[in-house]
Amino acid sequence: MDAEITIIGAGVVGLAIAEKLSGSFNDVFLIEKHPTFGQETSSRNSEVIHAGIYYPMGSLKAKLCVEGKGLLYDYCKKHDIPYRNCGKLIVATSQEEISILKGIRQTAMKNGVDDLTLLEKDKITELEPEIFALKALYSPSTGILDTHSLMKRFEINTLNNSGQIVYGSEVTEIKKIETGYEIKLLEADSKEYSFTTRIVINSAGLTSDKISEMADMKDDNLKIMFCKGEYFRLNPPKNKLISRLVYPVPVHNLEGIGIHVTIDMGGGVKLGPDVTYLDSNIHDYKVSVSKQEAFYLSAKKFLPFLEYDDIAPEMAGIRPKIQKPGEPVRDFYIREETSRGFPGFINLIGIESPGLTSSIAIAHYVKNLIRI
Ligand SMILES: Cc1cc2nc3c(=O)[nH]c(=O)nc-3n(C[C@H](O)[C@H](O)[C@H](O)COP(=O)(O)OP(=O)(O)OC[C@H]3O[C@@H](n4cnc5c(N)ncnc54)[C@H](O)[C@@H]3O)c2cc1C
Repeated sequence: MDAEITIIGAGVVGLAIAEKLSGSFNDVFLIEKHPTFGQETSSRNSEVIHAGIYYPMGSLKAKLCVEGKGLLYDYCKKHDIPYRNCGKLIVATSQEEISILKGIRQTAMKNGVDDLTLLEKDKITELEPEIFALKALYSPSTGILDTHSLMKRFEINTLNNSGQIVYGSEVTEIKKIETGYEIKLLEADSKEYSFTTRIVINSAGLTSDKISEMADMKDDNLKIMFCKGEYFRLNPPKNKLISRLVYPVPVHNLEGIGIHVTIDMGGGVKLGPDVTYLDSNIHDYKVSVSKQEAFYLSAKKFLPFLEYDDIAPEMAGIRPKIQKPGEPVRDFYIREETSRGFPGFINLIGIESPGLTSSIAIAHYVKNLIRI
């Protein structure tokens, strides 16, 4: 075998896995089609360290988010990754939403998130004087981080562990062989190259379903649908009026968690992301100016100071959803595929939010699936 373990995709999850496995195994390869890491979803998200509040009890999303949050804070401290444990408010702006807040708190408790407090108006005003809310849930363990620095540190540590990272190489074919898999790559100079590996870890984000199909695992239940999330920025000086994350009460099936206010490590404030399933799986990162009115009206409910011209188009990201529009939320799919006839092949499909928060916990989980 040329490689012991091959990881496909250098997003935050593939990098976390590469760091973890290169610390324990020899001949670990990470293959990425772009010239560097994190060029897709991992650099187009809200950069929030989620607490693990909303996910169904017992799901991988709940378990890996709660575990991952603690691991990520520790990692940021240890490796000087910029982060801020700024906290988050989930705001109710109507009587109906107040009753939903209670349900959210119960779900969070079941997931082991027992630090949420229900705040009355005066306490909310003390924390965030410029927002409107009748009541709010406060999550003290939610935070933000600099994702680029996190990915850079995973990359450095992988290389220091003697892991190999190959950029500019796209996986185009995967064939099962007796002792593992043969992988074909298309290099940046259009040359093709093949090598063999005992273990394959598919962490290819938006095209992880295609990687699984390449190996001959066809599954209509694991087809990825691109689901775009657009953001508008809050122009200065009004960005100074908010210092915590502020979320509305989420819509019922968790397609998204509502247009919210996120702050970043540079002091920027964004509204978003919204939720739009794309008609086809194309990398469409345009932000529609025509959505300004909808963003403005949505956020105005809890940001009374907002005027229409205070916001401007910022950026977009794409969620790799495995549930169709309107369907109940699906869990992360993370499996070693021996039962489907593909021993040593580990699929990670549908790693949408909270994939960033969960990245280190996912790496631990994947390590436990490996039998060498
Ligand atoms: C709008 C939005 C907001 C979000 N906000 C948050 C948040 O606040 N907090 C949070 O925890 N999570 C958030 N997420 C989720 C988080 O961003 C993702 O879960 C995480 O980035 C997924 O990382 P990944 O490594 O699995 O995928 P990616 O970052 O997509 O990486 C996959 C990599 O695989 C490579 N690849 C694909 N095919 C091939 C191939 N054939 N050959 C070689 N390489 C290949 C790609 O080029 C890519 O670099 C958000 C997501 C979105 C879209």
